[in-house]
Amino acid sequence: MRFVHDSRAQRVVFARAAALPAILEEAGAMGSRIMLIASRREDALAAGIAASLEVVHHHTEVVRHVPLALAERAREAAVSARAEVLVSVGGGSATGLAKAVALTSRLPILAVPTTYAGSEATDVWGLTAGDAKTTGADPVVLPRTVVYDATLLAGLPAELAVASGLNALAHGIDAMWGPRADPIDRALAAEGIRAVAAGLPGIAGAGSAVADIEQTLYGGYLAAVAFASAGSGMHHKICHVLGGMFDLPHAPTHAVVLPHVLGFNAPAAAEAEQRIAQALGAATAVAGLATLCRSVRAPVALRDLGMPEDGIRRAIPPILDAIPASNPAPVTPDNLAALLRAAWEGAPCDH
Ligand code: NAD
Repeated sequence: MRFVHDSRAQRVVFARAAALPAILEEAGAMGSRIMLIASRREDALAAGIAASLEVVHHHTEVVRHVPLALAERAREAAVSARAEVLVSVGGGSATGLAKAVALTSRLPILAVPTTYAGSEATDVWGLTAGDAKTTGADPVVLPRTVVYDATLLAGLPAELAVASGLNALAHGIDAMWGPRADPIDRALAAEGIRAVAAGLPGIAGAGSAVADIEQTLYGGYLAAVAFASAGSGMHHKICHVLGGMFDLPHAPTHAVVLPHVLGFNAPAAAEAEQRIAQALGAATAVAGLATLCRSVRAPVALRDLGMPEDGIRRAIPPILDAIPASNPAPVTPDNLAALLRAAWEGAPCDH
């Protein structure tokens, strides 16, 4: 074996968010001036948390893909409130805004995720200007502490929960062949895929059980850690371009594209294929994912998410530019067009 693996320092706590004051105390941040980042939609979830903290500013302007102007306003708010700690409560969009503030202020983040997006486990930030999304990696944006409280996700509507859970699964699958993927990433990814797949059916209906939410959070965390270390593979590059160009909803886009990328890469990535199949408890990775997606009624077509048909043609050049040269299966304009068309139409991908 020859590889270099960097682990990122972060405290992960599975607890009830009511334990936050004690967690902050341990982190030496109790009594700090806190800027709470949580949208109005997450008011009910954040209220219990905010009540026990010294919140000097509650920032509610949270929008997906973090528009630059909005990030600037949040940064100014952090300065004028003389915030010392950022506490985010919400999905990847709230975590993403906290990261945008941390990027310039270097303030520490305590993240309380309410979806399975996994942004809290990565040092990757994203900002959108116009229809172009810029991302980068910086250790200052990695939340110092993550508090996973499964009860906060109990009310996540099934459709959102499924798409978000498949977004988590995509981190694990893409980590298998990301440009810097190493044996440690693949081990974390395999356990992440297994745990997300175990939890997903239980969060796909009404009234998710806390145990299933916890499995999905745990697996989603491992998958996101693996992904952050391995780097974006073909799947994330495709979703990143499509999301930015057509303002598609993040998690459902991942849910639609993932089976197509797995079907594309699996024949050229025997070891990854076997590990994913094993993690999904299926004879093949493709069959395992197709069965899982059907059982949770995952979204299947990009056209249903608002992508225009001519977007297939327009997206090909930027996607080709972005896909790592190390991708297991060679990507050409023709085979990429066929993949995008299948994902756009919602064609089955396990035949
Ligand atoms: P989101 O944060 O936009 O949330 C989606 C919707 O769910 C919102 O309307 C929100 O109000 C609602 N919601 C959130 N939690 C809820 C709950 N518990 N109950 C009911 N409703 C709830 O979406 P997301 O998929 O979590 O995050 C997507 C964003 O995160 C994108 O901008 C994406 O680029 C980013 N992201 C970044 C990384 C990274 O590593 N940097 C990783 C994953 C996602």
